[in-house]
Amino acid sequence: MLFDRNSQEESKYLDPIFGNEHESQDLPKYKFANESVQPRVAYQMVKDELVDEGNARQNLATFCQTYMEPEATKIMAETLDKNAIDKSEYPRTTELENRCVNMIADLWHAPENEHFMGTSTVGSSEACMLGGLAMKFAWRKRAKKLGLDLNAHKPNLVISSSYQICWKKFCTYWDIELREVPLDKDHLSLNMDKVMDYVDEYTIGIVGIMGITYTGQYDDIAKLNDLVEEYNKTTDYKVYIHVDAASGGFYTPFMEPDIDWDFKLKNVVSINASGHKYGLVYPGIGWVLWRDKKYLPEDLIFNVSYLGGEMPTMAINFSRSASQIIGQYYNFVRLGFAGYHDIHLRTHHVAEYIINEIQKMGRFNVVNGAEHLPILCYSLKDNLNQKWTLYDLTDHLRMRGWQVPTYPMPEGLDNLVVQRIVCRADLGMNNAVELIEDMKAAIHELDNSKLINDSSQIHTKQNKPKKYGFTH
Ligand SMILES: *Cc1c(COP(=O)(O)O)cnc(C)c1O
Repeated sequence: MLFDRNSQEESKYLDPIFGNEHESQDLPKYKFANESVQPRVAYQMVKDELVDEGNARQNLATFCQTYMEPEATKIMAETLDKNAIDKSEYPRTTELENRCVNMIADLWHAPENEHFMGTSTVGSSEACMLGGLAMKFAWRKRAKKLGLDLNAHKPNLVISSSYQICWKKFCTYWDIELREVPLDKDHLSLNMDKVMDYVDEYTIGIVGIMGITYTGQYDDIAKLNDLVEEYNKTTDYKVYIHVDAASGGFYTPFMEPDIDWDFKLKNVVSINASGHKYGLVYPGIGWVLWRDKKYLPEDLIFNVSYLGGEMPTMAINFSRSASQIIGQYYNFVRLGFAGYHDIHLRTHHVAEYIINEIQKMGRFNVVNGAEHLPILCYSLKDNLNQKWTLYDLTDHLRMRGWQVPTYPMPEGLDNLVVQRIVCRADLGMNNAVELIEDMKAAIHELDNSKLINDSSQIHTKQNKPKKYGFTH
């Protein structure tokens, strides 16, 4: 008998999901339910829990990839079962990871006469941890040799105050002083006139940022390299640069090959990037590379078994799926240099359209109009005859599904409140036109809002502006 209409089990299974007994089932929140449910029911119930969530494609707050093509998703879904750390069990996966490292090393101009090392990570945060740890261990080795009293002071890391939160974590976890070079209105990136004042013999390294989270701007790494070169001539306590290229690492090489920021610069010893930002892979994948193995102290390398032998690994995590690595390699194969260039160029055009339209609205000062990365950042003009703030605009865009964060700039400039739009590959020109229409409508609504215009200020002390995430 193939199919029995009267079978209790079958009819239960074929029932439409809405209006049947399962719909009234409470989803477990604190305790395991006593009984199991059918996969289809579980799928629908869990999926339904997520319906009123933000739509990822309209999330203009994140740098992270929100679209991959069906073939990419397919190969990633098919490889979710592979554990990236099982090098022996999945030697071909290991080979693909190594090929990615080779290709990225080439993209970032690793010199041929040095021996680069690199690894995939869960994201830039893990990559920065590893880059930072390597700097700390290498510094300790050098300083010890020179007879420095390692206990007299905490080691320190120098970075602009617009660092991403992972550097604060790094310093907290590994007991390092975070030395922030503050921004000011004339220096929206690392202040080159001041940075070397923060360096001393306890400095484990300086971090330059290619794609400042707050604004999308770049630190001037070439200039920093020159300053470090001069500094190192004057002391035995050498200092080197790590570049946090979480968003620029997979953008600049394709779009702005004339900018010197990578291993072409002698004092740049390590670089990280997020594969899940402009590397165009779903989260989470990141990469960190060292220009030469001498900058990656051996204490940080652990061997895992690999084809009867051993293979060096450096990672904070152990088990994780290899599917993101495979997704990254898929993108490299599929897109090639031209593909990355074309996608980023199109995204850049979209960003230019949006910022031009925003400028025409006459209300905003542009802080970053996609000079490099397709990231837009603007503040409200002073002396506007209007009561609403950027926080109100964020709320009103949110009503139309768009997530566009508003937040204060970091230390030194924290009286400046900005709004930011991160343009990604899946924000097409049609979406951009819609966004601008929605923005105009929101502004019209705010200008005419009785609530806002009658109350002295909608965001009073008791009613603080909502915080939306913007740190990734
Ligand atoms: C996003 C970002 C990070 C953190 O990257 P994840 O890949 O999300 O862990 C670190 N630094 C900068 C500059 C970033 O933009």
